[in-house]
Amino acid sequence: MNAQNRRTFAIISHPDAGKTTLTEKLLLQGGAIHLAGEVKARGQARRARSDWMKIEQQRGISVTSSVMTFERGGITFNLLDTPGHEDFSEDTYRTLTAVDSAIMVIDAAKGIEPQTRKLFEVCRLRNVPIITFVNKVDREGRDTFELLDEVADMLALDICPMSWPVGMGGEFEGIFDFVTGNLMQPTGGSKAFEGKIIATGGIDDDILAENLSERGLSKLREEGGLAKEAYPDFDLAAYQNGDLTPVFFGSALKEFGIVEMIDAIAAHAPPPRPQPIEGGFIDPSDSEVTGFIFKVQANMDPNHRDRIAFMRLCSGTFKRGMKLTPSGHGKPVAIHSPILFFAQDREIADTAQPGDIIGIPNHGTLRVGDTLSEKNNRQFIGLPNFAPEILRRVVLKDPTKTKQLRKALDDLSEEGVIQVFYPEIGSQWVIGVVGQLQLEVLISRLEAEYKVEAVLEPAPFDTARWLKGAEAKIENFASLNRANMAKDRDGDAVFLARSSWDVGYQQEKNPDLIFGATKER
Ligand code: GDP
Repeated sequence: MNAQNRRTFAIISHPDAGKTTLTEKLLLQGGAIHLAGEVKARGQARRARSDWMKIEQQRGISVTSSVMTFERGGITFNLLDTPGHEDFSEDTYRTLTAVDSAIMVIDAAKGIEPQTRKLFEVCRLRNVPIITFVNKVDREGRDTFELLDEVADMLALDICPMSWPVGMGGEFEGIFDFVTGNLMQPTGGSKAFEGKIIATGGIDDDILAENLSERGLSKLREEGGLAKEAYPDFDLAAYQNGDLTPVFFGSALKEFGIVEMIDAIAAHAPPPRPQPIEGGFIDPSDSEVTGFIFKVQANMDPNHRDRIAFMRLCSGTFKRGMKLTPSGHGKPVAIHSPILFFAQDREIADTAQPGDIIGIPNHGTLRVGDTLSEKNNRQFIGLPNFAPEILRRVVLKDPTKTKQLRKALDDLSEEGVIQVFYPEIGSQWVIGVVGQLQLEVLISRLEAEYKVEAVLEPAPFDTARWLKGAEAKIENFASLNRANMAKDRDGDAVFLARSSWDVGYQQEKNPDLIFGATKER
C-alpha cells in the first residue's frame, strides 16, 4: 500500500484568475492530456450531453466538479476541480473537505478577491495547507511587495516568496527561483517560457548581467534582497499546519511557474492525512477500507439515470467488487464498477489507495456525508453544511404533486444541490441555497427529472441556524418560537431567522444554545 505518494489537492480562486488555464498546464506537464484546451473542450462535450447542465452552457460557467489524475516522478496527483463561480460554491466547499492541500491562484493585478477569501476561510477551518500562485505576471500587475503584504494581512498568514518576478507586463524579463537560483526567461514572439533557464549562484551572480536589462537586474537585486530579509524562510511544518504559505510567481498562459507548482506539491504538500472520525482519527495506514462521500452528481451519463457518488478513500487498499457499508443505512453495497477519473477518460479502477477518489454509480442510496467502511463502525466528521444565504418557499403549480415534490426535494438535498427545511407550522417547504444559481438549477431539474412545476416565492426568513444544546433547552426555545422553527432533512432543529440581527438577538437571550452557521455531519 502506498498512500505516501498520493497528493490530493484542489485549486481555489476567484473567477477569471486563471484556474482553468493553470489546470490545463498542470495536466499538460503531468502528461495527462496532450493538447492544451482539452479541459474546456472536454467540459463542453460533456455539457452538451446533459439536459440540466444547459444552465452551464447558457451561463458559460462550470457548476460540476470532476477529478483529474496524473503521475509524475513517482507521485500520483489527484486534482479535484472546484466550480469557480461565486454563486455556486457549496459544492466547492465540500470538495475542499476531500483534499489534503490547495493551490490558491491570485491575479497579480487584483490581489485577494472576495471568492478567494471565502474559499480560503473554508481551507482554514480544516487547516488545509496552501501554496499561493500569483498569476498573470506577463501583464501589468500590482507592486510585488504590496501583493505579498495583502496576502499576509488579509489572510493572517506568514508568507515566504519562493520566486520573484523580474518586472511585470511590458517590462517582464523572467522569474527568478530563490530555491534553485535559476532564472526562467521568455523567448520567441509569444514571450512564453520555452525552456530558457539561466543557472546562477544567486541574485549577485554576474551571469545575470548578461541576461537582464540594467533596470531589471538592479530591481531584482534590490527587491530580492529586501524580500529575503523581510519574510521568514520556508518552514515545512508551518506550511503543513496551514500557518505559512509559500508564494510562487508565474503566468499560466505563458507557462511560467508550472513545473515549480508541481514540484512544490510533490515535495511539500502532505500525503493523505489522518481524517477525523467520531472519537478520534483514521490513519491512512489503517488496513480497513474507509472513505466518505463528498459529492453526488446526477446525469453525468444521459443513458443512465443513476448518480455518481464521489468517495474519498481515507484508509486501506480498495479493490473492485469490494463490499462497503454506508453509515446509517446498514446495507452493504458491492462496488463492482467503480470509476477513477482520469483527465481523458473514465476508466475502471481495480485498486485505489488512500487519497484517491472513486466514483460509485448508485441509484440514490449514497448521500453526501456518508461514511463507507468494511465494518460499518465509523463515521467521518467535519463535512459541513453551510447556512443558506437565500431562502425561498416552494409553491407547486399543481397541488396534487406534493408527493413528487417531497421526493425531489429530498433527493436534491441529499445530492447537496439545495438544503431543505420543513417548517413546524404550515405546509410550505422552504429551501435554502448559498447562491442564486442553485435556484435555477433546482427549478430546471424539478421540471426535467421529476416533472414537477414549481415556483419559488420569497420566504419571510433571511437565514437559517442549526440549534445545538441540551434537548430540553432546544424544546423550550422551540415552544416559544414555533413560527420560526423547522427541521432539516436529518430531522435536526433549525431556527429560521428574519435577519442576522435576529440571530444575534436570540443568541444573546439564549446563551445556553448555539446558533450554528454550519452543521457538520
Ligand atoms: P478561471 O475563471 O479562473 O478558470 O480563469 P481562466 O483560466 O479561464 O482565465 C481567465 C482569462 O485570463 C482567460 O482569458 C485566460 O486566457 C486569461 N489568463 C489566464 N492566465 C493568464 C496569464 O498567465 N496571463 C494572461 N495574460 N492571461 C491569462
